Amino acid sequence: MKKEYAVSILVITLLMVFYVWYVSSGELLYSGDLLLALGRLAGLLLAVSILFQFVVIGRVGWLEKTFGLDALSRAHHWVGFSTVFFLIAHPLLIGLAYTRGSSDSIFHKTFSFLFSGDEIIQATIGAILFLMIGVSSVYVLLKKLRYEYWYGIHLITYIAIIISFGHQTELGGDLQTTFAHIFWTALYAISALVYIWFRFVQPIKKYAVHRFFVDKIIFETENVYSIFITGTHMERFSYIPGQFVIARFLERGVWYEAHPFSISSGSGKGDIRLTIKESGDYTKKLSHHIHSGTKVFIDGPHGIFGNEIKKEEKILCIAGGIGITPIRSMVELVGDHKDIKVLASFRTHHDVIFEREISEIIKPENVHIVYTHESPYEGHVKTITHSTILDYCPDIRERSVYLCGPVSFMNTMRAILKTQGVSEEKIHYEQFSL
Ligand SMILES: Cc1cc2nc3c(=O)[nH]c(=O)nc-3n(C[C@H](O)[C@H](O)[C@H](O)COP(=O)(O)OP(=O)(O)OC[C@H]3O[C@@H](n4cnc5c(N)ncnc54)[C@H](O)[C@@H]3O)c2cc1C
Repeated sequence: MKKEYAVSILVITLLMVFYVWYVSSGELLYSGDLLLALGRLAGLLLAVSILFQFVVIGRVGWLEKTFGLDALSRAHHWVGFSTVFFLIAHPLLIGLAYTRGSSDSIFHKTFSFLFSGDEIIQATIGAILFLMIGVSSVYVLLKKLRYEYWYGIHLITYIAIIISFGHQTELGGDLQTTFAHIFWTALYAISALVYIWFRFVQPIKKYAVHRFFVDKIIFETENVYSIFITGTHMERFSYIPGQFVIARFLERGVWYEAHPFSISSGSGKGDIRLTIKESGDYTKKLSHHIHSGTKVFIDGPHGIFGNEIKKEEKILCIAGGIGITPIRSMVELVGDHKDIKVLASFRTHHDVIFEREISEIIKPENVHIVYTHESPYEGHVKTITHSTILDYCPDIRERSVYLCGPVSFMNTMRAILKTQGVSEEKIHYEQFSL
């Protein structure tokens, strides 16, 4: 689906919302009831921003193919800020409008309005739940809250949406005409159907076809392991190198978490290999809980990182640590017939993975490793610099670059590449965080 179609759907929805609002509340603008008009608008925009968040994070196939899941995640994060803004503005403006003229304080006016009837009380509880979700998201971004706790809190969103729907259709001043009522109900119904279909039905259908299970687990280094996943009709499971899956291993102690991992195998079809670094509690315990035969629920493949690789002729892949996983997949697919170079950084030679496997596909001189912590390590961190790239790749401007690694590493690499004259369109990157 083209970007223009997706943007058009969003613009048309917003125009319809403004139309519905203007038909009922437009006159308030001229009769001096500005607070009420704006409060209602904030309420409508609040609902739309929440539905938007649901759809963009709902792993909707056609949206992902167009924008990529990481861009959609970023949109989800940013629109989250506007949701919090409307969440505060809507009750505040409406509360002030309805209690105008009374001698109570603003706080008392708004507070007494928020608890003035069953539907309003439910909406107030919904708003408090949404605020909790917003605050927890800020904490998780600041790395002060564990991802799993945040995810658990996020599940409350479903309850918050359901309990706050009633006050919109029952009391919403803009939603009382038949047209507005149908439009609003349809907006919710379509968003819910799209979400349920892509987030739940599709992965279940996929599992029903493939019945994925762990074939074997091998340790690549002391703290990196590969899980080989197979199943039935795997010839029908296709992916583009560079894509990732969200895997849930159905075993005691780990079944309740689903984590994203890039596919490190590169045939583009069939069995899947995931290569995982023990970086936190889940990835540390996973290899102890699963075994050959463990059933796996796979959601995906997702991502558009490698979409262009087949079209490119000259490529440089830059990987930071475990970021080598999608790069390995790409090299396996196109490495034997493209001019492809790999530049990877690892802490020490004990941490290196895939060097041999990649060197068997492309010329060994086209694989260059930088060790960031020289041995013996004396506190000096060596990274990939301007000169590393230029020495190894004097024709860098002619190459497309595929970049994967920790966020700070990628930011540094992108800055270096830009100063070396590589245009933004030629830099493709995947971030290991959603
Ligand atoms: C597109 C993508 C591809 C990835 N590919 C690989 C790969 O090939 N190999 C690899 O080792 N790692 C990969 N990762 C990273 C991997 O998902 C995290 O390292 C792992 O989820 C950390 O979990 P933890 O509980 O062990 O660590 P924690 O220390 O609990 O989490 C570290 C960080 O990982 C992220 N995270 C944690 N749990 C989840 C979750 N359920 N969903 C999304 N993000 C989460 C959060 O940003 C968190 O701050 C990838 C991540 C993304 C987004």
